Amino acid sequence: MYDVIIIGAGPAGLTAAIYTCRANKKTLVLEAKVYGGAIVETTQIENYPVAPHISGPNFAKTLYTQATELGAEVEFEEVVALRENATDSDRYFEITTEDDTYQAKSVIIAGGSIDRKLNLPNEKELTGRGVSYCATCDGALYKGKTVAVNGGGNTALYDTLYLSDIAKKIYLIHRRNEFRGDPALVDKLKKKDNIEFIMDSVISKINGEKRLESIEISPVIRPVENPSKNSENTPVKPVENSNAKTLKIDGLFVAIGRAPATKIYKDLLKLDGNGYIVADEKCRTNVPGIFVAGDVRTKDVRQLVTATADGAVAASAVAEYLNG
Ligand code: NAP
Repeated sequence: MYDVIIIGAGPAGLTAAIYTCRANKKTLVLEAKVYGGAIVETTQIENYPVAPHISGPNFAKTLYTQATELGAEVEFEEVVALRENATDSDRYFEITTEDDTYQAKSVIIAGGSIDRKLNLPNEKELTGRGVSYCATCDGALYKGKTVAVNGGGNTALYDTLYLSDIAKKIYLIHRRNEFRGDPALVDKLKKKDNIEFIMDSVISKINGEKRLESIEISPVIRPVENPSKNSENTPVKPVENSNAKTLKIDGLFVAIGRAPATKIYKDLLKLDGNGYIVADEKCRTNVPGIFVAGDVRTKDVRQLVTATADGAVAASAVAEYLNG
């Protein structure tokens, strides 16, 4: 029986592991993919205190080493179920992965989020065949080619900047006439001569048989004047029967934000309207003994620094819970 099982080896989960190990709690971290979470897809981190320039993969590697050297065990298995078990004398949690079942006195969910999809026909079929959600991972395949990036947040802006040194031409497509991401980054992009901005437009079709061949771009019904803080709530529809424009491209990088990975918790935990796990100041959920840290919880600012801060807060709350 572990004192705590942490679901997710991203910045929040690994920071939590550093704190629970230092509090002498037997800690297991379960990770479905690779350690580091979404941060490994970031080429350059420029807003983390004391580390003005560090790459996402380097940040992840250093954090992973720190957590495991302190004694955190890590298994690379996908969690498929979380159950609460109680006997007269005992209360514990059972976590089932694709390979095994683990038991713990407490749980920290730090599973982060998953790439938001365009939900267009052909998107799934052509993923890995021209359609990508990670410029850092796949950008090198498009040397000297023509690509498009879709999105208006920092991810789309950083992806475009990164690709501008690799691809011959980049179309940056955004559904409004103003970017959500940092103005300083937009200024950098404007200085590049191989980037074409396509504003107030959405992708309405993805074409290709075995590989991506082209996309169709449609203007939106009306530009969004006051986008909500949470971009997934913003309603935008392409103009029907408009003169959609076809762009022949070799690669499409979709960077339209992320959604919480919380499907398996919906029957046990309280989620908000967008699927994030509801938590209080101490990262406590509605179930005593289950805590939540990072992008997966309700919060205003989803940044690397707030994810690591959550890890520390959740781990301290776990120690308090375990020590009664
Ligand atoms: P985001 O800030 O939520 O931006 C998502 C973008 O996609 C928005 O511009 C949104 O448009 C657009 N969008 C959403 N759904 C869409 C749809 N169905 N069709 C077309 N466009 C759609 O997401 P993000 O860029 O991934 O950034 C997430 C967080 O990570 C942010 O806080 C960001 O600052 C941070 N980040 C930091 C760094 C760094 O510092 N190195 C790098 C990357 C990201 P609207 O604007 O119209 O809503």
